[in-house]
Amino acid sequence: MEMDQLVALCRRRGFLFQSSEIYGGLNGFWDYGPLGVELKRNIKEAWWRDMVAGHNELVAPPGAPSTYEMVGLDASIIMHPQVWKCSGHYDLFHDMMVDCRACKGRWRADHLRSAECPHKPSKRPGEFEKCSLTDPREFNLMFKTIVGAMGGEEDAAFLRPETAQGIFVNFKNLCDSTRVKVPFGIAQVGKSFRNEITPRNFTFRSREFEQMEIEFFCHPSTSRKWYEYWRDRRMAWYTSLGLAGERLRLREHDKDELSHYSVGTADIEYAFPFLSEGEYGELEGIAHRGDFDLRSHMEGKLVKNAEGCLEVEMVEIADGKRVPKHRGSGRDLTYRDDTTNERFTPHVIEPSAGADRGTLAFLCEAYHEDKAPDDKGEMQTRTVMKFHPRIAPVKAAVFPLVKKDGMPEAAKEIYTALKKRFIVFYDEKGAVGRRYRRQDEAGTPFCITVDGQTLQDGTVTVRDRDSLEQWRVKSADVVEEIAKRIEE
Ligand code: ATP
Repeated sequence: MEMDQLVALCRRRGFLFQSSEIYGGLNGFWDYGPLGVELKRNIKEAWWRDMVAGHNELVAPPGAPSTYEMVGLDASIIMHPQVWKCSGHYDLFHDMMVDCRACKGRWRADHLRSAECPHKPSKRPGEFEKCSLTDPREFNLMFKTIVGAMGGEEDAAFLRPETAQGIFVNFKNLCDSTRVKVPFGIAQVGKSFRNEITPRNFTFRSREFEQMEIEFFCHPSTSRKWYEYWRDRRMAWYTSLGLAGERLRLREHDKDELSHYSVGTADIEYAFPFLSEGEYGELEGIAHRGDFDLRSHMEGKLVKNAEGCLEVEMVEIADGKRVPKHRGSGRDLTYRDDTTNERFTPHVIEPSAGADRGTLAFLCEAYHEDKAPDDKGEMQTRTVMKFHPRIAPVKAAVFPLVKKDGMPEAAKEIYTALKKRFIVFYDEKGAVGRRYRRQDEAGTPFCITVDGQTLQDGTVTVRDRDSLEQWRVKSADVVEEIAKRIEE
């Protein structure tokens, strides 16, 4: 599949539009149309149901070292600026940027080898005689804003570049206000913002996007096992929703790729069609973060010392006194186990997924072209989005074969019954083959047709999007039939 075909389908059928398109668009920002919003919502809901709401804290899932609890959170997007100073984002969350003085192009320094210079014929930046690249320089990716009507620079705050910090700064609130006991996880879904130097590849690298993050708090002695559990659990989640096969892979980071505080990090990656052969793009990172985050918010911004241990970064002030560069909250974020009485700083495992990148991968995976018979029985090429029924934007469509003989009335009755439980679509316009085609493009897994036989024996046909198989079901059983097949 060519990426252009998918982008065109997304626009034509209302999955995705460029933000502010009538004004020429704004690079790095996207709007989800009626089908897109349902698809993304279903993905976020499947994540929340499978990771949080449906989690049974009384039973240890396969591979988990023990039982555990999961709770949810919805923190604010703008937080106290000190949060970002202590987390390290204020000083360190930057990419290296390179400009071309000749063509005014701008790229991330680490993307130069895959970027294209605007000069034609296409070459890499720096490869033309005329190219005049600057040295790489730092560019902080956080969006800055001013809080308050009279605010000045000292009132500057940031749009969060990740949802995770909202969880860390609420760790104590959650321990105090609920009865959760370590090991437990806090989950959050929400918008994040990064002023990416070169947003590109459709929604893959956007400036505004949604994350689905879990911070899982555990005892340091079991943290490696929990890391392995979450890594495998998250990989299995994508597979269960249809992202299987060789386009999906789990990649463990090499030792030298790991952050200084981590014993392990893995990325779940997908071979997006816009990448070169053999290249993969990150959908989710699962990181063992040790006690780095909770310590940072207690003590202040941490750095690695000569012995390789984390310590608070100090700076010298006027009288030669040394003070923390970014002072922590001073709050006690340690945890006391009330059965053993041990007090410790929990270690954190962080599965951090992108809802938009996930949605894009499911869109890419779903896109198929095959052959199906038209109304005259002749084979025609069809475009079909083979979404897993759980995430399909529309679960079923209901058609009267013709607009007479009581068929629309019978079809509308079925539609109304289905509508109470699912997103469904009613269509009585045009040839039935054309109506099937439109639903195939939208990825609707089931089409229900009311025909002449319905009026005689009360049955309707149900058509499967992928196999094109058709079977008859009693009208009264349609809701249960669809429910059973979606949950299968
Ligand atoms: P990359 O290396 O691609 O910039 P990252 O390693 O910085 O990604 P994380 O900070 O680990 O990403 O963020 C967790 C997840 O959030 C990513 O796996 C991705 O799904 C999503 N994400 C991060 N940046 C973006 C973005 N600019 N647009 C869309 N999704 C993003």
